[in-house]
Amino acid sequence: MRKVFITGGAGFIGSHLAEKLLASGHRVWALDDLSTGSMENIEHLVDREDFDFRFGSALDEALVAEYVDRADVVVHLAAAVGVRLIVEKPVHTIETNLGATTAVLDAAARKQKVVVLASTSEVYGKSTKVPFQEDDDISLGATTRSRWAYACSKAMDEWLALAFYREKGVPVVVTRFFNTVGPRQTGRYGMVLPNFARQALLREPITVYGTGEQSRCFGHVKDAVEAVERLIHCPEAVGEVFNVGTDEEVTISELAARVRAAAGSDSEIVKIPYEEAYAEGFEDMPRRVPDVTKLERVTGFRPRTPLAQVIDDVIADQRARLEAGEV
Ligand code: UDP
Repeated sequence: MRKVFITGGAGFIGSHLAEKLLASGHRVWALDDLSTGSMENIEHLVDREDFDFRFGSALDEALVAEYVDRADVVVHLAAAVGVRLIVEKPVHTIETNLGATTAVLDAAARKQKVVVLASTSEVYGKSTKVPFQEDDDISLGATTRSRWAYACSKAMDEWLALAFYREKGVPVVVTRFFNTVGPRQTGRYGMVLPNFARQALLREPITVYGTGEQSRCFGHVKDAVEAVERLIHCPEAVGEVFNVGTDEEVTISELAARVRAAAGSDSEIVKIPYEEAYAEGFEDMPRRVPDVTKLERVTGFRPRTPLAQVIDDVIADQRARLEAGEV
């Protein structure tokens, strides 16, 4: 049994991770400021004796240190997420991402606690290499474009974590999540799959941004948390970076068509220019595919849930939310 502290524990990935770790017999504390997370995500866990939720910010150094002290392992998921939020609130994004990671690593360094830092495929930036490997160069856009502030802040978080490992011996593991989707993810922050599912169910136009020829690989959140759980138990993972995602690639136009068909919808599929969807000068990535060889070599596991299943799960979740009257 390990004692695990999850920052962002009421978030989309955090709540699934808490559930998974509890099911394996671990003790879990979750910290969340409920900015993008929600109590709904963890309402089925809050009455358990082996789970505690604490409302608060991962920027609160004293609070973070208190929980890091109690735990053996810290999974640091708290961050500003969602392209829309990041474009609209770049100051918040940079301050939250760098500040919270600093607070976690400082506290972990005092007691040499294991830290899993959640990072993102965004750090590969505009690179057109397929697939991405962990040691590949990264290629970020200009500082005049807000989107890259997120990638850069997460890249700095990674550098900081790896620096704490090299310089202070803190056992850190970095996970780069590729487009992770599944039940409980809301479309509110711009994520494409819950958005499409909701639009299809409401028979509203499905909004494909740009040409729709850009592609992504959508990994099921259940696979992502399985990967994290395995990495926690892997001494070989310490000081290393891991891609976490699936390599089943789909264009956004094709995704729209598949979601519409799976939802039994007759929604129109419309194309919206990026400038209209986000802001003038918005830059997107054309393709983003992970190489997950390293994850599989070290943990014996690679995410394999097929896209069809992922789409069905997201549609079922959105349908339940709509039936519950969520706006
Ligand atoms: N996207 C879209 N319609 C939407 C939301 C997003 O076409 O309603 C596109 C977005 O421009 C990107 C892809 O879907 O090319 C994935 O977007 P998301 O924000 O989910 O993740 P990203 O890969 O950009 O981090």
